[in-house]
Amino acid sequence: MATEVMITGSGIPLPSPGRAGAGALVRHDSTMIQVDAGPATTLRLTEANVDLTQLAGLVITHHHSDHLMGIPDLVLTRWIRNGAHRCPPLPIHCPAGHAVDYVESLFDNLQPDIEARIGLAGFPDRPEVAVHPFEPQESPTVVATFGEVLVESILVEHGGVRPAVAYRFSTPDGVLVVSGDTRACDAVEDLAAGADILVHEVLSSSKLLELGLPHQRVERLGRLHAEAPTLGALAARAGVGQLVLTHLMPAPRGSDDEAELVEAIRAGGYAGRVTVASDLHTARV
Ligand SMILES: [Zn+2]
Ligand SMILES: [Zn+2]
Repeated sequence: MATEVMITGSGIPLPSPGRAGAGALVRHDSTMIQVDAGPATTLRLTEANVDLTQLAGLVITHHHSDHLMGIPDLVLTRWIRNGAHRCPPLPIHCPAGHAVDYVESLFDNLQPDIEARIGLAGFPDRPEVAVHPFEPQESPTVVATFGEVLVESILVEHGGVRPAVAYRFSTPDGVLVVSGDTRACDAVEDLAAGADILVHEVLSSSKLLELGLPHQRVERLGRLHAEAPTLGALAARAGVGQLVLTHLMPAPRGSDDEAELVEAIRAGGYAGRVTVASDLHTARV
């Protein structure tokens, strides 16, 4: 297997059928790194036959529930799945700030359940995470290495949500970038320069207005998220090999909506391959 990224959740905070909360799984040979874990991430990984005990680590983009709520499920299920074997702490890399507080207190409300499970099944250890906070920077900075996968991050622009970061994964096969939540910004353009794959969130203001969202709210969302034509222009300037759209705001209601979204990306000038992700969509370097 070469290097690939699988979308574990293409959704947003408001649920829509078939779309789990935000996340992606980066794989290089047997090295697997999960990026964010929104609601139903564990279910999606299971559907993709991913052995949770083989995850090398988790990296977090920012402190928003649609990217975090699946983490307790993932960590607990990984521990239960490990059964009688010792379960090494799951490495979690995240930008210093609220996300660190969140992952450091994952088990606070679960202790009675954990004790009961240990009593029931005789597990040899407790679920644990190894939290690695880092200070996010305005230029690409190495934050982790998993096997042959080098992970860099950069600060991005997600409105008042600070810090929020994007990640670049470099392997012997190539480079892929996952934006997390952000406007189309210079930082992602820097990080994604020449990347084989750019997984980026996307917003369609016109669709949200069509759906009846108040103008003021749509305008506010536009300050936090990436409008399609602006993203198309970014992808063209960065010269990325292919663009995978996720965190779809709003979720397309059919192939016409998807085609419209791709057209909006093209309007920004990007001529490469564009995919509107569904859950479990996989792109290979
Ligand atoms: Zn989000
Ligand atoms: Zn967010």
